[in-house]
Amino acid sequence: MLTPMMRQYFEIKENYKDCILFFRLGDFYEMFFEDAKIASRELELVLTGRDCGLEERAPMCGIPFHAASSYIARLVNKGYKVAIGEQVEDPSVAKGIVKRDVIKVITPGTFIESSEDNEYKNTYLMCIIEENGSFGVAISDISTGEFKVTSFNSIKSTLLDEITKVNPKEILVDEKINESILEEISTVSQALITKRNLSKEICNEDELINKFSEVCIVNLNDLSKKVSGALLKYIYDTQKMNLTNINLLEYYDIVNYMTIDGNSRRNLELTESLKEKSKKGSLIWVLDKTATSMGGRAIRKWIEEPLIVKKEIEKRLEGVEELFNNGYFNEDLRLLLKEIYDIERIVGKISNKNVNAKDLISLRNSIDKLPGIKAHLSKSNSNILKEWFNELDELIDVKTLLSNSILDDPSISVKEGNIIRDGYNEEVDSLRTAKLHGKEWIAALENREREFTGIKSLKVGYNKVFGYYIEISKANYSSIPEGRYIRKQTLANAERFITQELKEMEDKILGAEEKLISLEYNLFVEIREAIEKEIPRLKQSARIIGNLDALSTLALIALENDYVKPSINEEGIIDIKEGRHPVVEKVIGNGEFVSNDTKLNTKDNRLLLITGPNMAGKSTYMRQVALITLMAQIGSFVPAKEANISVCDKIFTRIGASDDLAGGKSTFMVEMWEVSNILKNATSKSLVLLDEVGRGTSTYDGLSIAWSVIEYISNNKNLKCKTLFATHYHELTKLEGNIEGVKNYSVAVSEVDDNIIFLRKIIEGGADQSYGIEVAKLAGLPKDVIDRAKEILSSLENSNNDNHVEIIKEVAAEKEEKPKNKKSVFKEENYQLDFGSIEKDNLINTIANLDIMSLTPMEAMNELYKITIEAKKLK
Ligand code: ADP
Repeated sequence: MLTPMMRQYFEIKENYKDCILFFRLGDFYEMFFEDAKIASRELELVLTGRDCGLEERAPMCGIPFHAASSYIARLVNKGYKVAIGEQVEDPSVAKGIVKRDVIKVITPGTFIESSEDNEYKNTYLMCIIEENGSFGVAISDISTGEFKVTSFNSIKSTLLDEITKVNPKEILVDEKINESILEEISTVSQALITKRNLSKEICNEDELINKFSEVCIVNLNDLSKKVSGALLKYIYDTQKMNLTNINLLEYYDIVNYMTIDGNSRRNLELTESLKEKSKKGSLIWVLDKTATSMGGRAIRKWIEEPLIVKKEIEKRLEGVEELFNNGYFNEDLRLLLKEIYDIERIVGKISNKNVNAKDLISLRNSIDKLPGIKAHLSKSNSNILKEWFNELDELIDVKTLLSNSILDDPSISVKEGNIIRDGYNEEVDSLRTAKLHGKEWIAALENREREFTGIKSLKVGYNKVFGYYIEISKANYSSIPEGRYIRKQTLANAERFITQELKEMEDKILGAEEKLISLEYNLFVEIREAIEKEIPRLKQSARIIGNLDALSTLALIALENDYVKPSINEEGIIDIKEGRHPVVEKVIGNGEFVSNDTKLNTKDNRLLLITGPNMAGKSTYMRQVALITLMAQIGSFVPAKEANISVCDKIFTRIGASDDLAGGKSTFMVEMWEVSNILKNATSKSLVLLDEVGRGTSTYDGLSIAWSVIEYISNNKNLKCKTLFATHYHELTKLEGNIEGVKNYSVAVSEVDDNIIFLRKIIEGGADQSYGIEVAKLAGLPKDVIDRAKEILSSLENSNNDNHVEIIKEVAAEKEEKPKNKKSVFKEENYQLDFGSIEKDNLINTIANLDIMSLTPMEAMNELYKITIEAKKLK
């Protein structure tokens, strides 16, 4: 039969099946059975066993309670949930076994321990509900108190874009969610998926109003209410308390921001580099020089959500301009900002009740800077800064309370005293005096006894077990007066004694100390609760500080990097003079980056067809145009001499080979999937970058696809979007003049003695050569290979034969038969294109391009089947 303790364990575990249960026994958290096996594996703990009343011992492992947080962090970072089971009644009054229950569940989406990694990032928890053809999405960061909701038509790509943008750590879904959606979510997100019964586990409208006030809730549609209710319920269920920093529910409309899908975000390297997945090498790496964590999170949000309303963009730009033009003023402002701690997260700790006195001093020191900042803002002219001036609450009352009540250097633990300032509370003062007098009395006693006994080394000491004692070394035993002291403890070299009066004073001192500690704690809680009432005001000031920091940083970056204020238009014109790539120019440094102009409009320069050899700088140029546009729309100055930017609703990129081998799709498949997504979702206001579309398949296929994509974009009346199209198919340059809006550009190279030099300049007109062999030479391919490639190229170029398979055979034969003696076959006849041979060519290419390693056995069978069908047709 189970022991009573284990019965209690099982009763609790029953409700927390998806968590690892930390079960508090004395000074340890113990884990049992499957939880113990997981924890011992993941945390490298020794797995032991414990009698549990069953035949087999229960597998068990444990961690010291005081060191729990690092173990919890490790488990949560690996995607586990941890339920903390504690004693919930006072053991001294408990009858039988002490009652235990879960006091908190820590999950990836609710884990708020700050670390360097998440200081400048939000930790988001997201909830998704699909109902009646719409998605409802609610998100919250419980450490900052942010809580937002939106709803939109059930378009899967929109949902996936939103998930990529928000990048939540945990996503709540209904347990009956469609498996195919779940699969797609997991392809774009690493978040832990938590399945719940969201129709039952939900806060109703009254509860929402109770939490957020009626104004927040009344205008929400039903789905938004529902998804907010489900998210809030989960927060209650895990936190087991009402977090007061979550007090505002905001509805946001996803169409208020520029749409950038997950691929495009990655390709443009907005917040992390493509290869290393690090902040270094990304746009945020260049732009984020924020002074505060709140500013760091704000600028990340701005980069992730560029604006699309001209007025709003101009408002931010105007603010940046003012700070840009007043560099010293901005510098002063930044000195103040640097002194400000993460108010949002301190507020989070206040509502979570785990704030300490040192945090409150950080809060006080931060609030201390607000009047200075407000005085700065009072001098500003731009609307955005004036607005912030009006909204910034200096929180004088909160500061006064903290300054009067908390010591400048209080202890970290709130249960050890040394928190409250002298003069704040009379009782604290009198207890402190009593304690002090006691200590003075003890010092006097020490002197008196030294004199009386003549023992100079006699000292009065204190330890937690014996309290105060008189210590006399062995050498002086003989000088101890008979009957004066009571012996208490014998050490190797000394003897410890007490006296009656010493013990009486000890009681007084310790009594005062004990009272003081509990009084200081109670006062601390009172102060914390008083501040908790002001959380909405604290959050408002924190938000303004974050945004002000972001704005001021943009001004600083603009100054340091020689950026210019862009003009914003809505006429579809993108006109950039001497534009630069913000990240590449930093990486190569020394002013070596070659600037380039860009002219895009809705008429003759709608689709720029960019040709040029590999490595010439085509992708860099295209990304540069997109990044300059995006930077303008977040309100930033841009790396250029002059820029006039049309507001774009969406930016799409199809750049480079993003193989999805794990997903079982070949490069070409991924490429086509991305292109199809762009063609379906772009509008006339979008900016589209297409790099080497069609490269992943045979020449004919590739060329045809690229051609028809250009036609489609240019002629489809719903598209006609501004497009940059890089290609190595020179044939496409013929489209200029034949398709409206297509304009040829190329990257200039110069040829010196058979070598090429990249000039990095974009010039009008198509490139006449691909210089592939020259690039290969630069890359260090052996000379023999280069020479032979030149031979083959010249044969191909001199031939009228378009059938490459035939030509390859001929060139090969020619080589075998010692080409010098043989007349070239290619010039002899005017070869007629034969449809059958193209088909064969295509089939051979299909087989050659099969990436067997990326196919599942079933897919391989299907491919084989298709190939045999094609081959039979050609027989
Ligand atoms: P492509 O797309 O034509 O193959 P990339 O855009 O990848 O070429 O550019 C290749 C390299 O050339 C880049 O990594 C960068 O270092 C350098 N580069 C590109 N554009 C410029 C420029 N405008 N000025 C200086 N260096 C450049």
